[in-house]
Amino acid sequence: MDCCKITVTVSEYGGCRDAQHWFIRSLRFHRNKAVQFNTRAYGTATCVQLARYGYRGHINRAARKMDSMKKRVLITDVDNTLFDWQHFWYQTFSAMIKQVQNISGVDPEILYRECSFVHQKYGTSEYSHLLEELPCLRERYGNDVLSVMAPAIEAFRETRRRILKLYPTVEETLQSLKRDGVLIAAYTESKAFYTNYRFRKLGLDGLIDVLYSPPDHELPTNSSGNRSYSNGEYALQHTVHHHTPEGEEKPNPDILVQIIADLGASVEEVVYIGDNILKDVYMAQQAGVTDAHANYGASQHKPEYELLRKVTHWTPEMVERERKALRPGEITPTFILNRNFAEILPLFEKDNGIPTRES
Ligand SMILES: [Mg+2]
Repeated sequence: MDCCKITVTVSEYGGCRDAQHWFIRSLRFHRNKAVQFNTRAYGTATCVQLARYGYRGHINRAARKMDSMKKRVLITDVDNTLFDWQHFWYQTFSAMIKQVQNISGVDPEILYRECSFVHQKYGTSEYSHLLEELPCLRERYGNDVLSVMAPAIEAFRETRRRILKLYPTVEETLQSLKRDGVLIAAYTESKAFYTNYRFRKLGLDGLIDVLYSPPDHELPTNSSGNRSYSNGEYALQHTVHHHTPEGEEKPNPDILVQIIADLGASVEEVVYIGDNILKDVYMAQQAGVTDAHANYGASQHKPEYELLRKVTHWTPEMVERERKALRPGEITPTFILNRNFAEILPLFEKDNGIPTRES
């Protein structure tokens, strides 16, 4: 197999993004070559092997084009970028599980283990029929789980009503961008039902133009659950809601590239913001999109994370992949937002002063 290693050295910011994006696309035409791309070295200039293939002029033209390009599209992650999902999840889950323990007396470690099993089955740590499917509760209460556990469900709902809110500056920043004509899209891995609920309750319906999320998980066939998809109650009124392909997840850059195409934009016009170094920053960089790290929302080191890990829907492979990706210095964000979401605004100004990596 013909193999070459591409190293792009740092000289100008703009071209590196475009070069990467272009390179990813070009792979489709060179599938017979095993090409390694050094994602930690960015820039425009010396794509030696690319130049050998005759692409250097293309990259330099793209670099000049991008340097003068004003951003007009924002694509934002949702959880821990627009609101504190981890805090929300921890508070609601803890309130519910505390009641479950009080009522049933089940060992918490058994509860957590069974929660993790059910969450992995449905691919979400927010599965709304969780209690009905926990074997330890079904053994005790049979088909009466929901009625016995009504106080636990109410504890969950009461906590949810109380704590669900956007991070500071998110609402006014989105409003400001909309006034300036910026197209705003959200891309989340949280499944449709849960994201949809939060969009309505957080006032994001209409504030964000287009939402991309995975479709919902299956519902248990014998569920006595309390939601219906048939009456339109859960539909967003203003935001257009599209589903991402089943089984495709961040940090797959192809999904982001497809979203940008769907929005009728080019990668040079887009800023992508997210809190997760691997799933957001790395993905955006691989797609050739200007990345901004919502460091104010980075959550992996909070104590709540430990409980999430115990009951998570993540598979061991997913946890290991993220752990490796979080090694210091492995992935360097282009822009870091330390205080709040509003720090994204300068990137949409005409003279946005996008820096080189050395500056
Ligand atoms: Mg996130």
